[in-house]
Amino acid sequence: MSHRYKIIKQSDVKKEDWDLAFTTAIIASDDLRIRQPTIFFIEPSADGEFEIQTRIAGCAWPGGLKIYVRSSLFKKEIVEVTAHEVRHCWQFQTGKVGARNLDENDAKLYELGFMGKLGLPADSELREALAYWRCHQLVYRRCQATAMRRA
Ligand SMILES: [Zn+2]
Repeated sequence: MSHRYKIIKQSDVKKEDWDLAFTTAIIASDDLRIRQPTIFFIEPSADGEFEIQTRIAGCAWPGGLKIYVRSSLFKKEIVEVTAHEVRHCWQFQTGKVGARNLDENDAKLYELGFMGKLGLPADSELREALAYWRCHQLVYRRCQATAMRRA
């Protein structure tokens, strides 16, 4: 049986959910050094524009510049799914697309590593953990730039 999904208008997505996905996409894209994909939230809908063979929590579009995240996930799942889909974008953008199950394992591993690096926070700590990581990335980038200027 196939499943249909429709894209939800950004204004209809809970701001908190949007922020979690958006911040995760910024961090993961920076981490993987790829172009940041555009995020869309989707929900099951009989007249949705997407038809997919399986039930999904998210998906990445070939080309790796768009990801789709299912709405009404738990907070932690939004971060997991977004990190997972950004890794699929990395596969597309770098041409490292292999067998379906290998790509899936690779994305799953990245997702697990991402949550580990985030410190496996509780839902209430997610925002802060993401902000902390992003801050680290930016400081690290500045240090790298300074070191390069000195070299
Ligand atoms: Zn996947």
